[in-house]
Amino acid sequence: MDSVRSHLNEYVSTVGKSPIRALFELSFDPNLISFAGGNPASELFDVDGLAKSFAHVMEIAGPRAMQYASTDGEPEMRAAAAQRSTGMGVPTTASQVFITSGSQQGIGLLSQTLVNPGDVVLVENPSFVSALQAFGLQGAEFKPVDTDEAGVVPEALDAAIRRWKPKAVYLIPTFQNPTGVTMPESRRRAVADIFAAHDTWLIEDDPYSELRYTEDQQIPICADPRLDDRAFLLNTLSKVLSPGLRVGWVRGPEHILERLSVAKQATALQTSTIDQLAAAHYLAHTDLQATLDPIRAEYARRRDAMLTGLREVLPPGSAMTEPAGGMFVWARLPEGYDASELVYDAIEAGTMFVPGAPFYVADPDPRTLRFSFVSNTPEVTRTGLERLAPVFRRG
Ligand code: PMP
Repeated sequence: MDSVRSHLNEYVSTVGKSPIRALFELSFDPNLISFAGGNPASELFDVDGLAKSFAHVMEIAGPRAMQYASTDGEPEMRAAAAQRSTGMGVPTTASQVFITSGSQQGIGLLSQTLVNPGDVVLVENPSFVSALQAFGLQGAEFKPVDTDEAGVVPEALDAAIRRWKPKAVYLIPTFQNPTGVTMPESRRRAVADIFAAHDTWLIEDDPYSELRYTEDQQIPICADPRLDDRAFLLNTLSKVLSPGLRVGWVRGPEHILERLSVAKQATALQTSTIDQLAAAHYLAHTDLQATLDPIRAEYARRRDAMLTGLREVLPPGSAMTEPAGGMFVWARLPEGYDASELVYDAIEAGTMFVPGAPFYVADPDPRTLRFSFVSNTPEVTRTGLERLAPVFRRG
C-alpha cells in the first residue's frame, strides 16, 4: 500500500501511542527500577480473597459465570457499584450505573457517545494521556483550562466554557494524574455552580480518591444533585483491588447510559461475566476499607520516601507537588533541562520515570516529569533515586 495513513481512520492514524504504555514494556526488566507506571503494588494485592470469590462463583453459579450476560452489567455488580459510589458521597441507585471494563473503557464509551469530530473538550493541562487518546480518537479538539495548586481555576473554567462552548469537560479533581493535585471542597462547590449554570457535560474521573493518606475525604463534584442530568462519574476497582480485573463503572443520567450501551455493544458486547460476579462477591463479603487501611499506610510511607529522596536528588531550583493521596508526584526541573532527553540516560542508569510533555494538550513543558511512588518499597525507591542523582547533575 502506498500510504498506510490514507487507508486508516483519520484519527487512529494521528493519535499517538501512550508513552507510558511504551515504557511499561521496559518496566519488566528486573534490573530496572520503574517510577513510570501507575501500577498498584502487586505484593499488596488480596490474592487469596479474590481467589476465594472466583472459586465461590464457579461453584455456585459456574454456568452463569461462563455465559454471555447483559451489556449494562450484572445486577450484583451494578448494586455493588452503586453502593460504592454512594459510600463516596454520591447517592446512586443501580439503574444509574453502567459497568465497564475498567474506567478507561468508560472514558472511551463516553467519548463515542458524546463527541463528534471537531467538538471541543476542555481538559486540565496536563491531563491523563489515555483519556486524551480516547477523546482524540473521536476527533475532539482540546482546549486547556488553567489550573493551580488546587486544581481547575473556577473563573478560568467559567470563561473557557463561555468562550469555547465545549461538548464536555473532563476533570480529575482528586489526586490528579499526572500532577497529584486535589481540589479542595470550597472550590468544588464553585465548580459545581459553574456546571449548574452551563449546558455542557462534566466527565469526572475518580480512580484515586480512596487512596488517601490523610483523614480528609474528598466528595466528588458530581455529588451535587443539580448536576444529575449533566454529569458522569467514573469509578474503578483498579486502584483499590486489581487493575487486572478490569471492572469499573460510569454513573450518569439513565437515558444517556442507554446510548452508552450501544457503544458498548459495538465495542465489547459486555464486561466479563465471571469477573463481575467475582468482584461483586468480593465486595459483598470483604470490608474493603479494612483491607485498604494497611495499603494506605504503606503507600503513605512510599510517598514520603519518594518526596524525601526527590528533595535530595532534584537539581536546585526544581519544584514538585506533595500529593495527599493517589500515586504520583509531579516535578519541574530548572531552566534548561529536558526530561524527554533525560529519560534515556535514566534508563541507562537503571531507573525510569515518565517525561511530562505528552500529558499536555497545549504548551508542553519539557522540564516536567512524573514519578509514581506506590510500586516500590522505600528502600528500592531510595536506590532508584540514587541512580538518578548523576543523571540530573549532568542535566
Ligand atoms: N483514569 C485515570 C485518571 C487513570 O489514572 C487511570 C489509570 N491509570 C484510568 C482512568 C484507567 O483505569 P482503569 O481502566 O484501570 O480503571
